[in-house]
Amino acid sequence: GFDSMEGDLRLENVSFRYPGKAEPILKNVSFHVSPGEKLAIMGATGSGKSTLLNLIPRIFEATEGKIYVSGVDVTEWSLKELRDTIGLVPQQSVLFTGSILENLAWGDAEAHVDELEEAAKKAQIHESIDLFPQKYDTRVGQQGVNLSGGQKQRLSIARALVRKPSLLILDDSTSALDVKTETALWDALEGEAATMLVVTQKIRTAQGAHTILLLDEGEVVGYGTHEEL
Ligand code: ATP
Repeated sequence: GFDSMEGDLRLENVSFRYPGKAEPILKNVSFHVSPGEKLAIMGATGSGKSTLLNLIPRIFEATEGKIYVSGVDVTEWSLKELRDTIGLVPQQSVLFTGSILENLAWGDAEAHVDELEEAAKKAQIHESIDLFPQKYDTRVGQQGVNLSGGQKQRLSIARALVRKPSLLILDDSTSALDVKTETALWDALEGEAATMLVVTQKIRTAQGAHTILLLDEGEVVGYGTHEEL
């Protein structure tokens, strides 16, 4: 287990309204994820899942309420340190024109090739990369190889793992993966980040989490294990 508060995530009565909008998108959201746990967030399209995730690394600021990462109010973290401790994989993976290696390192000049490969292995993308004639030097993006949706998702996950986040947040990042690949991925991620937050539309993915949170129109309408819900 984890001895410290590292990766602990707590939301207390969080509400959020986009600037200039009258309607709140999130209303009084509270939950707690202990280090080492995996929470799945489910809910209809537009229920506020991505918005909720974006509040944690302060891409948007909560309008009301408190968010604590590793026991510290996110507004008291330096933005850089907060974002370094959180690995957020967005719904639409963003790859830039460059090599696979550059995309994995993402401007981290200190990243070692073997660390990048290690992350790629955990994210179940190493074998695909190895099949390209130029391997990790293969160019992606415009004028590069066309990666499948699932390959892009796995590359984005690998990139997040490189930074060894204490809180890994996946926004529907495994939607394009087949059952076998996804199972291998979850096995590899076991113990990788202290805490995992996973938005998913798939019941099977949610079943692998300790707890499931159901959002409906910005409100928590369910919270418990798969059996309880
Ligand atoms: P999906 O499953 O389709 O990704 P979601 O549950 O992640 O949906 P959000 O993307 O968080 O939902 O959107 C929640 C609501 O907030 C929607 O009504 C959406 O139109 C609105 N919204 C999202 N981004 C913005 C923005 N930048 N400005 C204003 N409204 C926004």
